[in-house]
Amino acid sequence: MFESVESRGVDQILALMQAFRADPRPGKVDLVVGVYKDAQGRVPVMRAVKAAERLLIEAEDTKTYVGMAGDADYRAHAARLLLGNDAPQIAEGRVTSLQTVGGSGALRVGCDLLKSLNADMKLWVSTPTWANHVPVATDAGLRTDAYPYFRPSDRGLDFDGMMAHLDAQSAEGDAILLHACCHNPTGVDLSFDQWKTVTDFLVARGLLPFVDCAYQGLGKGMEEDVAGLRHMAAHVPEMLIASSFSKNFAVYRERTGALTIMARAAEDIGAIQGAAETVIRSNYSMPPSHGARIVAAVLDDPALTADWSEELDEMRKRIASVRQTLRTMLEERQVTKDLSFVTDQTGMFSYTGFGPEAVATLRDDHGIYIAGDGRINVAGLSEDNLDAVADGFAAVMR
Ligand code: PMP
Repeated sequence: MFESVESRGVDQILALMQAFRADPRPGKVDLVVGVYKDAQGRVPVMRAVKAAERLLIEAEDTKTYVGMAGDADYRAHAARLLLGNDAPQIAEGRVTSLQTVGGSGALRVGCDLLKSLNADMKLWVSTPTWANHVPVATDAGLRTDAYPYFRPSDRGLDFDGMMAHLDAQSAEGDAILLHACCHNPTGVDLSFDQWKTVTDFLVARGLLPFVDCAYQGLGKGMEEDVAGLRHMAAHVPEMLIASSFSKNFAVYRERTGALTIMARAAEDIGAIQGAAETVIRSNYSMPPSHGARIVAAVLDDPALTADWSEELDEMRKRIASVRQTLRTMLEERQVTKDLSFVTDQTGMFSYTGFGPEAVATLRDDHGIYIAGDGRINVAGLSEDNLDAVADGFAAVMR
């Protein structure tokens, strides 16, 4: 039986990571993987995370199971970071968060939940979207369909195309996946006014929003990055949110995420949480503890919270400054194309618009690895490699 297995192919990003590791050239540059790197190219443990871990080692007195929904303290923090400390929906008891195995786990539990509620459920995703969205949804048994999003001509948002398509094609009861901020892979986000328009449309059409929030704090700020999401949450009856602390706490390998469910009424919460726990139970039963305890320990302690927030600000500012430097360097190299996208797009990613040929040239001639769709991880840029990257980009852009 095993000999007849057909490969589904390695994730393109993972294949590129392998090729990068095998490349012997000393000046090679990795702009592929979606992790935040500091100016020295490291993926550091945040100061407050280290401090919290020290506290936890001392304080932890049991390794007993955490339960299907995870750590209660962490779950409360997860909901408040997304919806706001004073969110009326939380006060009304209409919200529950479940601790999940990273943001990916939140997406999967959310999709499994939707499938269990409606076997015929369709999920709309943006074109393009994070490479794992469609595999997660289809493996959960959902049907997926795509709405226009990115416009290559100006590397911006095709909002009219998006809304016209959804208006023509979506049906009541469908779910729609939106990126809260720092859209992966394009870096192109909805404006606040566009969130309002989408919200009105979802309410009128009866669509269920499923918002993926993997980069809160890495775009414009912890509050700013969820302004659209909060507007939506205030106006739709029901909502799912998959959130991740992988990036904003830099705890990638601790697999720390949450599925937040907002119901129409407090009476609905017990049943919907039970349905989510059912899909968790038959999958991995219970989440791991460590990452969630770190996040809760930081957010329970005002001094640690302040330090974490300061370091996150530094990360966000570095990304913004590197975007500006790259743009200036390309302008200095006489690239005449409109470069505003470099500084307009937000978050860790930028969609360069480079086609397969340019991507190959960058890799083969310049040792610069970027994703096959032209996505770069801006946080992979640093003083050490900016010159080389600007030279390479200028060569393929001219
Ligand atoms: N959603 C998006 C848009 C992402 O980019 C990522 C991480 N690359 C995730 C979800 C999942 O994050 P995690 O590592 O926490 O599973």
